[in-house]
Amino acid sequence: MNKYGSTALVINCGSSSVKFAILDPKDGHTYLSGIAEALGLDEARISWRFEDQDKEKASLGAGAGHDRALEFLVKNIMSQNEELHDSIVSCGHRIVQGGDIYSEPTLIDDEVVANIAKVIPFAPLHNPAHILGIESARKNFPNIPHVAVFDTAFHQTMPPKAYRYAIPETYYTDLHLRKYGAHGTSHMYIAQETAKFLNKPLEETNVITCHLGNGASVSAVKGGKCMDPLAGLVMGTRCGCIDASVVFFLCDRLKMTPEQVKDVFNKESGMLALSGISSDMRPIEEGYIKGEPKCVLAFDIYAYRLAKFIASYYVPLGHVDAISFAGGIGENSDIIRKLTCDLLKEPFGLEIDDELNSKFMGFKGNGSGKISTESSKSAIFMIQTNEELMIARSAMKFVK
Ligand code: ADP
Repeated sequence: MNKYGSTALVINCGSSSVKFAILDPKDGHTYLSGIAEALGLDEARISWRFEDQDKEKASLGAGAGHDRALEFLVKNIMSQNEELHDSIVSCGHRIVQGGDIYSEPTLIDDEVVANIAKVIPFAPLHNPAHILGIESARKNFPNIPHVAVFDTAFHQTMPPKAYRYAIPETYYTDLHLRKYGAHGTSHMYIAQETAKFLNKPLEETNVITCHLGNGASVSAVKGGKCMDPLAGLVMGTRCGCIDASVVFFLCDRLKMTPEQVKDVFNKESGMLALSGISSDMRPIEEGYIKGEPKCVLAFDIYAYRLAKFIASYYVPLGHVDAISFAGGIGENSDIIRKLTCDLLKEPFGLEIDDELNSKFMGFKGNGSGKISTESSKSAIFMIQTNEELMIARSAMKFVK
């Protein structure tokens, strides 16, 4: 009998990183977690931590890629604890984009890999990296099921009036151009946890879920089904929603190519551009507290945009039981939560409880909880999201 029982390996490949974790899918207990970073660069490196040990790190060698990272995981890290290695019965892969092909976790075979490749145009940075991760994980862990868990799957329940753009139909029919949604695995988890807090069945719960990390999105979840996700928020380096005419203005006036505009909107915009100091919320928050004008404006724009999106989701939901904040910013920035909820106080009767708001902070380690007053018209929660646990649980469904 293996002392770890049956565990799942969760892999999340970005364009230059691989995050990995081995966890118990029943309670989310994490035995090993780590990240390989700067892949493809001279300083490619990996760091990891077994639950009861200090963090360790190593160089992967100049130019090391995803394959080398996973090989290192098996040969150098897992070899330190063979019993843990042997406890892995399934591997879940986070896949950012599954197009309109997948609406649930799927056992990976060559056809699935080909389909993930087909929708690369909708996730040009992520999907190629996911394929590298899948190929090398299948090679390094050949005897277990590999399962694709799509961020877009949860959003497949939204109706056409939510996902269609008001542009000529052939772009939709021929090119599959439509809204797909982001961070679905997290939105599903946040909705489930919120329903537990409300003591209501998920099927009877209406919640607006805010996943606020480096990437950010808000979603309307009615009875556990996504009604309308939106990726229009201001993000770390991304501008979010912007008037389409801005693109033409930049192309006309500065003779920029569409590729250059895309780069500016993706890599040089968002909180980085507004604050002028960083894409990371922490130094901007410090500037906000000191009253530095650019940081104050950056925070005001972030909260204003977020509040407007939350407000728009009263339309698909009708009645809103709760609004939940999650992700690195949603869990750790009481200021963003407060600024946002205050904007929603007059129109929707939302009332944040200042004491509870400063109590439930991810970095304080006291878990998720309610941060609204008893008289608030809808409850407000801080929920610590756990995409790894959702992926691990999905992966276990394919173990015979
Ligand atoms: P990712 O989308 O990469 O998973 P995370 O969910 O980890 O991102 O969120 C990263 C964001 O969380 C960064 O902008 C970071 O500044 C912010 N963040 C982390 N800790 C704090 C904190 N204590 N206060 C404010 N923001 C924080």
